[in-house]
Amino acid sequence: MLEVRNLHAKIGDKEILKGIDLTIKEGETHAIMGPNGSGKSTLSAVLVGNPMFEVTDGTAIFNGKDLLEMKPEDRANEGIFLSFQYPVEIPGVSMTNFMRTAINEKRKYQGLEPMSAADFIKLMKEKRQVVELDARLSQRSVNEGFSGGEKKRNEIFQMAMLEPKLAILDETDSGLDVDALRIVAEGVNKLKSPHNSTIVITHYDRLLDIIRPDVIHVLYKGRIVKTAGPDLAKEIEARGYDWIKEEIGEK
Ligand code: ADP
Ligand code: MG
Ligand code: MG
Repeated sequence: MLEVRNLHAKIGDKEILKGIDLTIKEGETHAIMGPNGSGKSTLSAVLVGNPMFEVTDGTAIFNGKDLLEMKPEDRANEGIFLSFQYPVEIPGVSMTNFMRTAINEKRKYQGLEPMSAADFIKLMKEKRQVVELDARLSQRSVNEGFSGGEKKRNEIFQMAMLEPKLAILDETDSGLDVDALRIVAEGVNKLKSPHNSTIVITHYDRLLDIIRPDVIHVLYKGRIVKTAGPDLAKEIEARGYDWIKEEIGEK
């Protein structure tokens, strides 16, 4: 699904990613943890093609295609979805219209006709239930005046609608209360299939308790410094990151 090799990226003249290697197979869920400022958000931004960052070395192949050569919108059309740490508000654009446009853009890319109104309404209803999203929110502008929890749920709802091949959730848990966290995490689980993959970026093990990733990576100073099974989250929760820094000779 995704094969990243020796990926380097910078912003201005500051190098942030310093040689990332990451292989994600179909159906797998990977978590990326790591101290603040390690480059986690930068990695997700680079994968979706955020133009703020310049890739200076390395490769990223997504389903056999060179991701780094693709425009951001084509990466989305190919099935990469990024859920933001801080979801943006889009005043004046209703959720419904936003989703219809996004879905039909993707269909057009796939050579399909726009979805019929009836099918679209049916899909909205079905996917809303995945995250227990209030139907009234669909009539409102995207994220405008949504609570923190509603924004996060809305992100998972958008993901459910778009059925991405690779979903990247960047700290989707930050600022969520326990109930909203459970709904988001269970929503992610309901969307898992043998044909899609997920990258969950998080600081905490509470989300991972529910999502149960196959693999956990620790990103530190622009490199993946440790890769282990799901129990690593518990160890990090209990002991922090200092022992990992020691392992790599940083302390
Ligand atoms: P994380 O998500 O792991 O907390 P980030 O990827 O957000 O880390 O940031 C990695 C490093 O890149 C940090 O040192 C941060 O200050 C820097 N950085 C991120 N975005 C910018 C930016 N727009 N301008 C300058 N530096 C940035
Ligand atoms: Mg951060
Ligand atoms: Mg971040």
